[in-house]
Amino acid sequence: MIFLNPINNSLDFQIKEDTQVGRYLCASRAVFSGEIVLKEKPLLSGPPQVTGPVCLGCHNGLSPNSWLSCPNCGWPMCSIQCVNSENHQPECRWTMEQRNAKVKISQFVTPHPTYAGITPLRACYFKEHKPELWNRLQELESHTEHRRSTGKLEQERFCCSTVSKEILQIRR
Ligand SMILES: [Zn+2]
Ligand SMILES: [Zn+2]
Repeated sequence: MIFLNPINNSLDFQIKEDTQVGRYLCASRAVFSGEIVLKEKPLLSGPPQVTGPVCLGCHNGLSPNSWLSCPNCGWPMCSIQCVNSENHQPECRWTMEQRNAKVKISQFVTPHPTYAGITPLRACYFKEHKPELWNRLQELESHTEHRRSTGKLEQERFCCSTVSKEILQIRR
């Protein structure tokens, strides 16, 4: 991937690879302090792996007294705007179609394990419903081996499997 300077079409930055650090951005000219060198919308976003209930639209934390239940799926949200946000559509749609019953979360104090599976499931949703985004996800650098060595990979597989089977009741 090459980044062109929009003013003069010069090559300002290139992606390079290193066996230690993986892919990285390399400037081909001096970068000024505070200069924005890359601005990109995230391909995929989701709640933190370990979190109490958060809004699945904006990912802000929810307190026990300030949330609303998504009228479609029951996941706690902060506002009707977030109910309708693009971020929330994968779990909302799968909850309605697969689970056939609304999610009920009543505990807002300690970390809630169901949130750990949301982001991987959103990626799986891309595979079925947004192949162009799924293909772009596949182009990203894999950190599987590093995560396997830390034990995080198995932990994520377990969370994802639990959420997909127990909460969303996806059987495929
Ligand atoms: Zn929100
Ligand atoms: Zn919903």
